[in-house]
Amino acid sequence: MLSDAFGREVTDIRVSVTKRCNFGCVYCHDEGLGPVARPRSPHGEEMTVAEIERLIGVAREFGIRSVKFTGGEPLVRDDLEEIISRSVEQIPDVSLTTNGSMLEYRAEALRDAGLKRVNVSVDSIDPVAFRSIRKGGLAPVLRGIREALRVGLKPVKLNMVVFRPTLDNIPRMIDYVGATDGLKLQLIQFMPELVAHREWMVDIDAVRKWLEEHATRVLIREMHHRHVYFFRHVEVELVDPVYNAEFCSNCHRIRVTHKGELKGCLNRTDDLIPTRGLDDDGLRSAFRQVITTRMPYYGGYVTDYPSRSSLGSLLPMVPARPGV
Ligand code: SAM
Ligand code: SF4
Repeated sequence: MLSDAFGREVTDIRVSVTKRCNFGCVYCHDEGLGPVARPRSPHGEEMTVAEIERLIGVAREFGIRSVKFTGGEPLVRDDLEEIISRSVEQIPDVSLTTNGSMLEYRAEALRDAGLKRVNVSVDSIDPVAFRSIRKGGLAPVLRGIREALRVGLKPVKLNMVVFRPTLDNIPRMIDYVGATDGLKLQLIQFMPELVAHREWMVDIDAVRKWLEEHATRVLIREMHHRHVYFFRHVEVELVDPVYNAEFCSNCHRIRVTHKGELKGCLNRTDDLIPTRGLDDDGLRSAFRQVITTRMPYYGGYVTDYPSRSSLGSLLPMVPARPGV
């Protein structure tokens, strides 16, 4: 297993298979790579199945234990099942993050291909609010979630971005997740770094405090030291990376863009290492390079950013709701 200069072992790889998407979320950072492309736009630059398979093979050689496929919207690719089946032969722990809009018709085939788990992004269970944030319909997404549960892709984690338009809905979302067996909730702090709109930010420390006060139990995961809060049987994970030194110092993940460039940090685009055309030894040295040069704390890349503690009192808080 390889570690970076800050002692962080790399155990996890997140692979974007496309920049295309059929939604248009108002906050989308597309893995830090700018606006997504329309589903039918030219996509000749996307990695082939064979290129992805080779990358995953080298990742396994370096002791990487889990793979997550993402995008853009990974389900715009018709060959995602094949990508997954070739990947699980190298690294069995393969999961997927999707907007869920096409999951209804693919969940079974994805499971058969070897997919272990799925995250589905659901910022609101109100169809009007959902559409205004994601520019797509909620109903097919909910059907996709039901189908994923039916075929045994459990647990299904619902990703909810926490920003001004969703903040008040956290208690309602916890209730929703608690009403269906097999669901978990992942609250993701809105990351404004590469999409602007800092005014959408909320005081995530206040959200954390609210969760601590209402939860019956709290766990801390190794990855990013993410906190997991239990509301009786409902599991709620908080992913709060923005200016969070503890998060960065426990980051064990590298990334790959849809063009096959290795990437050391979600929030950086100045550290991309192309791998196209490299032979196996070249690919191994590209892996060593991305791992040995990766930097925590934004790598000094985002410099004009307020520190987290200075944001606190200026931002709105999640509404009190005893008894959740
Ligand atoms: N299209 C898929 C989806 O929406 O789930 C996968 C790709 S999307 C880039 C991966 C996750 O990042 C989604 O859960 C999305 O809500 C989240 N995300 C996108 N932009 C974000 C931002 N600016 N801040 C926080 N999370 C964001
Ligand atoms: Fe971005 Fe995912 Fe939304 Fe598409 S569905 S716009 S990739 S967050």
